[in-house]
Amino acid sequence: MGQIIQLDDHLSNKIAAGEVVERPASVVKELVENAIDAKSTRIEIELEEGGLSSIRILDNGSGIEPEDCELAFSRHATSKIKDEQDLFQIRTMGFRGEALPSIASVSHVDMKTGTGNGPGTAMKIVNGRVQQLERANARKGTEITVSALFYNTPARLKHMKTIHTELGNISDVVNRLALGHPHISFRLKHNGKEMLHTNGNGNLLQVIAAVYGMSTAKQMVAVSGQSLDYSIEGFVVKPEVTRASRNYMSFFMNGRYIKNYAVQKALVQAYHTLLPIGRYPIAVLSITMDPSIIDVNVHPSKLEARLSKEPELTALVEDAVKQVLRQLKLIPEPLKQE
Ligand code: ADP
Ligand code: MG
Repeated sequence: MGQIIQLDDHLSNKIAAGEVVERPASVVKELVENAIDAKSTRIEIELEEGGLSSIRILDNGSGIEPEDCELAFSRHATSKIKDEQDLFQIRTMGFRGEALPSIASVSHVDMKTGTGNGPGTAMKIVNGRVQQLERANARKGTEITVSALFYNTPARLKHMKTIHTELGNISDVVNRLALGHPHISFRLKHNGKEMLHTNGNGNLLQVIAAVYGMSTAKQMVAVSGQSLDYSIEGFVVKPEVTRASRNYMSFFMNGRYIKNYAVQKALVQAYHTLLPIGRYPIAVLSITMDPSIIDVNVHPSKLEARLSKEPELTALVEDAVKQVLRQLKLIPEPLKQE
């Protein structure tokens, strides 16, 4: 007799949650990315106790149609891709259709959403099951509250660090999302106290000032450059201001924060001997390219990407940054070849 059974949805969602929702910061990342994909211009994040007791995200995006609300919380359900072709042309932050069901399988979720046409929807999910789904007055946009995170996965809950550490991780995530989207206004509050506010006017230097402080922003210089397949734009710091960590070098590829060692290395290379050993620059560089040359379907967190023309990009980053350092007379002009 056969030994294999098909797991039910709740159990398979909980298994997926193991990858997708590692800690409160991953919940914030997934929900804010959904708000970005919904074309929100204003996103508010309110946390209690480092996100462990509650995470509330409010956006003014498209909202979810009443008939889609239940589907949004089922596995592999997405409005962002339709077929295999789309997988190689990703223009949105999400596409896997896993975040909402995963989050709902390890927490309690309350959602209120409206599209601006007709009545909205109020929904409550407890223990991965829909407890309430009804019409409600809702303005255009979505409000999701995630509470009691990891209440049913005690081992994971035990691994949560202090509120301070979890808050630090969330803060990093939101700072990056804000740096990658200067046209969206972000507000982050913890236990009622404001941690970050950006006004969404598209001015990246103002976002840098909100995240790293005004004095750092004043030491940043604009960079831009273009190659056949890539264009880059952003700010890098003058070499007198350095950091002991690589974490202040942020690269956004088509709006998504991506860790790529080769590109980091190219940036450091541009400063060459201007950086003391073990010190790194602060940089916020936005790289845009045709989505077909970047593959973000490498890991559920989408923090890494495969690029089909990586050497072209590293050369562009190095050249563009060298050019501004040259204009500042910090590195010499290249020798003219006779
Ligand atoms: P994915 O983002 O990969 O599509 P999710 O599980 O995160 O998967 O979300 C499922 C679907 O729910 C999305 O494709 C989208 O249609 C809808 N959705 C989720 N959050 C929002 C939101 N804040 N505003 C509008 N629609 C949303
Ligand atoms: Mg998503």
